Amino acid sequence: MTRWQRVLVLMLAMAMLAFAVGAGCSERTPRAAEPAVVFDAARAWADLETQVAMGFRVPGTPTHREVRDWLADQLRATGATVMLQPFSHELGGSTVQMWNIIAEIPGHGPAPRERVLLAAHWDTRPTADKDPDPAKRDQPIPGANDGASGVAVLLEIARQLQAHPISRDVQVVLFDGEDYGPGLEDMLLGSAHYARNLPEQKPDWGILLDMIGDTDLAIPREPYSEQHAKAVNDRVFAAARRLGYLRTAGMPGFVDAPGAYMITDDHVPLNEVGIPTVDLIDFDYPYWHTLADTPAKCSRESLRIVGMVVLSAIQAE
Ligand SMILES: [Zn+2]
Repeated sequence: MTRWQRVLVLMLAMAMLAFAVGAGCSERTPRAAEPAVVFDAARAWADLETQVAMGFRVPGTPTHREVRDWLADQLRATGATVMLQPFSHELGGSTVQMWNIIAEIPGHGPAPRERVLLAAHWDTRPTADKDPDPAKRDQPIPGANDGASGVAVLLEIARQLQAHPISRDVQVVLFDGEDYGPGLEDMLLGSAHYARNLPEQKPDWGILLDMIGDTDLAIPREPYSEQHAKAVNDRVFAAARRLGYLRTAGMPGFVDAPGAYMITDDHVPLNEVGIPTVDLIDFDYPYWHTLADTPAKCSRESLRIVGMVVLSAIQAE
């Protein structure tokens, strides 16, 4: 080997080393857009199962009160300040007592801080009026997806916000009486009561979760939300894109396109009093308001996707 050959070999070796180091670095370096979001989907799943196992969360029943206390305890255990907002509703000559459950989780940014509302309904429908078997339509639904899924994600988000505070104040509100019925005039009761009795510090914007546990998850831009709170939807779908949770063939996730159904849900009374709020809902759920709305139709992975996207959306600038 001549001196020039040795120099050539040395240069070649250095070039190969530089290439290898460079390639290694680019593999190890996290993508700049990757946010520090943690969500324990196993814990959220356990909370979904517990709610269903405790029984039907039908206003006016002893189970309803038991679950109310259990939910308040779960939120208190995160360190949040929790209050019950009681109200009553008259139907068919009888008065039914209901409670919104409100948890305050202060942010750590400089005051005045932006204030975000995260909501879901904790009650379940007294009647399975969409059940394929007419003989069963007067029975209460288990409400694994319709009720428990959104609540489960919010309980875990409350825990994560205690461990990893964000700059914004967060108010978690579990609405009662969303699904009471039978007709729409006897539904959305908790959100309507909240909207008529706003806290001193009104939230600046909000995200509502309803029916987000479906195994075959597909959450579109709900049209009423898009009309009244487009900026919040943009924030949510940007988070879904950042995290890689836009739905692809066969995989559950968010669908960045208008939904087929305009949904009347707890976000309507909120938007009406000037809190721009989106409804994250997958209404393509064959077990809606049937006895088959059980944990078997839901998945831990769907709870993870929604929990991660909401956490990322509320901590982004
Ligand atoms: Zn419902």
